[in-house]
Amino acid sequence: MTRVLVVEDERALLRALAMNLTARGYDVTEAETGTRALTAAAAQEHDVILLDLGLPDLSGLEVIKAVRAYASTPIVVLSARTATAEKVAALDLGADDFVTKPFSIDELLARLRAATRRGGSAAETSEVVLVGTTSVDLAAKTVTAADGSAVHLTPTEWQLLETLLRHPSKLITGRALLTQLRGTPDHTDPSYLRIYIAQLRKKLEPEPGRPRHLITEPGMGYRFQP
Ligand code: CA
Repeated sequence: MTRVLVVEDERALLRALAMNLTARGYDVTEAETGTRALTAAAAQEHDVILLDLGLPDLSGLEVIKAVRAYASTPIVVLSARTATAEKVAALDLGADDFVTKPFSIDELLARLRAATRRGGSAAETSEVVLVGTTSVDLAAKTVTAADGSAVHLTPTEWQLLETLLRHPSKLITGRALLTQLRGTPDHTDPSYLRIYIAQLRKKLEPEPGRPRHLITEPGMGYRFQP
């Protein structure tokens, strides 16, 4: 049974989430404030935390920071469509993904499943990852197309691809990717990443113009969709 801590101050939404998730076999703990969320998170281990960013006492960002100080529990953030900067901040603080309100229960369940899958096997990512029909061997650092031919990547392309592939389905912010590539987040020109992602799509995606695996989340970052 997947244990989920649901943190939401809108009482009606909290009740609806708890009912829906319980009906689908989740073991739900409810928290209406950031303080109660931290108490619940410390008292019991959860497989995933669903966290509203707008809370009455602490901000959702403070909750993420506090939880991340001692636990790697996957965190899926609930937030308003307009709050892009806040979502990026949440991801950079260690949230795993976000769902934008209003959302469908199916969308939410898909995000929770992806987050808990990662949580359980983060340390043991398979070394050979399929991007469509292209096979990427993370240990040998080789890329092989469906017809068996080798695909050549530049060191920067490789680094970017490896970061995305090691976190399947996870949304990684542009800032985090640039920090990894450059060792500093100062280089914030988003076109820099766009160029490398476009190159990777050309080399890996069956239809580079309609990417299905190296996905852009506008204004936020990128994710590898297995
Ligand atoms: Ca709220």
